[in-house]
Amino acid sequence: MLYSEIADVYEKIEATTKRLEMTDLLVGLLKKTPKEIIDKVVYLTQGRIYPEFVKLEIGVAERLAIKALAHASGRRESEIEEDMKKTGDVGETAQNFIARKRQITFFQKPLTVQRVYETFDKMARASGPGAIDTKVALLAGLLADASPKEAKYIMRTVTGNLRLGIADMTVLDALSIAYGGGKETRELVERAYNISSDLGKVAKVLAEEGLEGIKKFKVVVGNPIRPMLAERLSSPEEILEKLGGKCIAEYKYDGERIQAHKKGDEITLFSRRLEDISDQYPDAIELLRKHVLAKEAIVEAECVAIDPDTGEMRPFQELMHRRRKYGIEKAMEEYPVSLFMFDALYVDGKDLTLEPYPVRRKTLESIIQEGERVKLAKSITTDNIKDLENFFLEAIENGCEGLMCKSTAPDSIYQAGARGWLWIKYKRDYKSEMTDTVDLVVVGAFHGRGKRAGTYGALLLAAYNPENDTFETVTKCGTGFTDEDLAKLPEIMKKHVIPHKHPRVNSLIEADVWFEPKTVIEVLGAEITLSPIHTCAMNAIRQGNGLAIRFPRFTGNYRLDKAAEDATTTGEIVEMYQRQLKKIVES
Ligand code: ATP
Repeated sequence: MLYSEIADVYEKIEATTKRLEMTDLLVGLLKKTPKEIIDKVVYLTQGRIYPEFVKLEIGVAERLAIKALAHASGRRESEIEEDMKKTGDVGETAQNFIARKRQITFFQKPLTVQRVYETFDKMARASGPGAIDTKVALLAGLLADASPKEAKYIMRTVTGNLRLGIADMTVLDALSIAYGGGKETRELVERAYNISSDLGKVAKVLAEEGLEGIKKFKVVVGNPIRPMLAERLSSPEEILEKLGGKCIAEYKYDGERIQAHKKGDEITLFSRRLEDISDQYPDAIELLRKHVLAKEAIVEAECVAIDPDTGEMRPFQELMHRRRKYGIEKAMEEYPVSLFMFDALYVDGKDLTLEPYPVRRKTLESIIQEGERVKLAKSITTDNIKDLENFFLEAIENGCEGLMCKSTAPDSIYQAGARGWLWIKYKRDYKSEMTDTVDLVVVGAFHGRGKRAGTYGALLLAAYNPENDTFETVTKCGTGFTDEDLAKLPEIMKKHVIPHKHPRVNSLIEADVWFEPKTVIEVLGAEITLSPIHTCAMNAIRQGNGLAIRFPRFTGNYRLDKAAEDATTTGEIVEMYQRQLKKIVES
């Protein structure tokens, strides 16, 4: 097949604004493409040579592309750059220069799709010290034999600027029409894509084996499965009703979704967008190697940043430190992660994607050996509104975003690539800043780990209830302490240590160390939430719940000027909570 046939279609696609017309043009192209190379043609229309999850990219910098064009056209790089200032597009400039050159050359080998693809592939694979020269030479070779129109699309492709805007779904439509027998077959074709994320492979199987081949499509370790997504509701009543009165509710961890593919010792991690992110998480790979007991598996987990000193979960943003190319070692040390496993899609030869969730979860439980940093997503199975609400509050309090409520029905399959009602997320719809600091009483402490071994990892803090003359716990704070603070803390608190909970302290939480309520520190939190485990203002807002401060941070101020009884009162916390709600309603 000649590359010019593809280039002609590209040009027409570029000119149309109608999706249906675009589909028709693609159908035409796919129909005249020889079956052996249909996968390659599909990748090329996406501006790629492999599916997205394969890390190989052609990746030629514009500067190098210009160099290659200079070689091929016999013009100076400065002239080309000058023209690019006018066109703003390497493709158009290449078209101009190759057109002018064309008038003086006579012998050209017409470009075949095969040759273009293979050259792109060689360019992508070029590595080592001579890689740049190799890429330039390969590209110049192609351009030398290209027509102006072909040169335009070759240049755009290699520099990552093809931008035909053909959505994956349009390709699936076109494939169903061209080879599936009509649009009605689209669902089957789409499922094959959803479990393989590989449009080229789907095209090839469909073209060569027809729908029978598509029906036999299997989950394969190494090919990411497009993620199942959740709908959202905002009350436990609605959620239970939607899920047939019962669900498996899990903590909704605030981290990065990871789909891990394990084949023996080899593990690949894919992001929610199905990019290979293995390089960012060597520690997660190591954890999975140890804790996934199956030989082959595809499992999903939320990867959460953890405070190395307290073991507590940190907000999602801290994972951004993993995005960098260099210094992963340092990021691993400063921002370690824990994994919370929530699904199993394939285990030792068995495709689980069409199994109901309870079966998948059970299988997951059977192949995960839990450890300190690898856990199953915390879950309950419930048909009770109140239990669901309490579990939600507990999740929030433990640093999660809310709950994922999952259907337990016989048809609760893994809906790859779809957002549906089999999973329902339950988060609070708002986030509001707590602008005032509070002064809280240190009533207990938890032993530190890691760098904080020997000192405290977090303090249990309470507000004062003047009516009962008690101290009611409102948060656990492990953030905002400098090394110096930490070194000093046991010393400062030593004189207040008591062997058991102080009688004036009202706490449902067991601290490692208890204090006489004397010391007051200043804290700034992110927001105030209802809580089943903190006793501050218990039952004041809702029966069975107290209030808690989320993501508290020590401001560095010891309020030595305050006695414990001068601390922020539980009544003030209630007021702050109500003000916060009012703000949300008004906004
Ligand atoms: P979406 O993924 O729905 O488009 P989003 O990226 O903002 O939107 P959310 O809608 O907030 O994410 O929630 C879905 C995400 O929650 C999942 O993609 C997954 O990363 C995460 N998650 C955390 N805990 C769980 C769990 N127990 N089960 C499933 N997903 C979970």
